[in-house]
Amino acid sequence: MHPVDLVIRGRRVVTPHGVEPASVHITRGYISSISIFEDVPDGAELVEAHDSVVMPGLVDTHVHVNEPGRTEWEGFETATRAAAAGGVTTIVDMPLNSVPATTTHAAFNQKVEAAQGKLHVDTGFWGGVVPGNTSELRKLWDAGVVGFKCFLIHSGVDEFPNVSERDLREAMPELARLGALLIVHAEVPGPVDACCQSASEAPARSYETFLRSRPREAENEAVAMMIDLCRATSCRVHVVHHSSADALPILRQAKASGLTITAETCPHYLHFAAEDIPDGATEFKCCPPIRERENREQLWDALRDGTIDFVVSDHSPCPPDMKLPDEGDFMNAWGGISSLQLRLPIIWTEAAARGFTIEDLVKWLCREPARQVGLEIVKGSIKEGGDADADIVIWNPEREFTVEPSILHHRHKVTPYNGEVLRGVVEKTFLRGQIVYDDGRFYGPYGRALFRT
Ligand SMILES: [Zn+2]
Repeated sequence: MHPVDLVIRGRRVVTPHGVEPASVHITRGYISSISIFEDVPDGAELVEAHDSVVMPGLVDTHVHVNEPGRTEWEGFETATRAAAAGGVTTIVDMPLNSVPATTTHAAFNQKVEAAQGKLHVDTGFWGGVVPGNTSELRKLWDAGVVGFKCFLIHSGVDEFPNVSERDLREAMPELARLGALLIVHAEVPGPVDACCQSASEAPARSYETFLRSRPREAENEAVAMMIDLCRATSCRVHVVHHSSADALPILRQAKASGLTITAETCPHYLHFAAEDIPDGATEFKCCPPIRERENREQLWDALRDGTIDFVVSDHSPCPPDMKLPDEGDFMNAWGGISSLQLRLPIIWTEAAARGFTIEDLVKWLCREPARQVGLEIVKGSIKEGGDADADIVIWNPEREFTVEPSILHHRHKVTPYNGEVLRGVVEKTFLRGQIVYDDGRFYGPYGRALFRT
């Protein structure tokens, strides 16, 4: 047995038994045991969290890094620094917005190559399902992607075309054979096309115009189709960035019937409300859109009852001029919100106000996202036994701060969270027992590329 080399202890450690005073013993980067607060073995380095919370590093399975090919939008270096500063120790990169898109084995190799030496946190990769690439899926899976993403509507970039139901009837049986998860951007074009025609007359600076152009029906129909395909093909399905509350009843029903379907939502759908978004404020544009306050509260109810499984950022940056800030044109601005660094305080601010606990937070931000990508043994919880990586964040849940561009570490600082007062300050982030972020300072890069095993 190797000796314990690091102890992180505090009065509020989130363990499988609850939130309690404890010492987390770390041996060679793994959590070897969880002991009583007073137990600090001789020779071990001691980090005192005092009254701050000690919890698992966050897992964010929905991040658009965009490298290679669109590194001027965001890259591995900047994205993973932002992650470390936000207490996130694992991200999973989306297969699109990089060039090439991760839809072939060759492209996956380029992606992994591009990440070398730049990772401040551990990073896994999604592959993509596009029309005609069924023969690549097994190769991508064997190479180590954690699962596959598809779009049912134009993705925003031409090199990642969306699939039709017919394409999915070809691809999903192959994914079912592999045992792979399919994650889906669940909006179908029909209702959007119909609304866009009538919206073309309306003022493009108005948020209302944009909201009407991406109606709930587009999500509702897409979710219904994916439930049918899940049932027909036995392929595991996950709905990304779910926004429409009207689709929650069928999701709830599908889960109750035993189908392997899960769903996530994002901080912006849980924090903002359409009624408050000023005209021309294109930093709020994302697809599907931020909807009404009443919709937001139903998303919270769905988190409460487990219909929505977890919350990830959908960090999706672009150069500031693509947001068309001068025109304020919602219809032509790039859709995407950058919040990789802010997920913990946004969700804590909103969750605490609704009576949720830090254990709920760990479930939504750490444990369930890790489970989604098959990393639940090594990531997403502080548990003893030597299997779990010592990925830990220490943060203060009582302190507040104001979001300003100067505190953000992702490449472009445009964000709708500017000026927001949030609760929860990340103090220290540890990756496999090594400190990677300490009160504004970075150490590393110590991150690794993660491959499905
Ligand atoms: Zn996304």
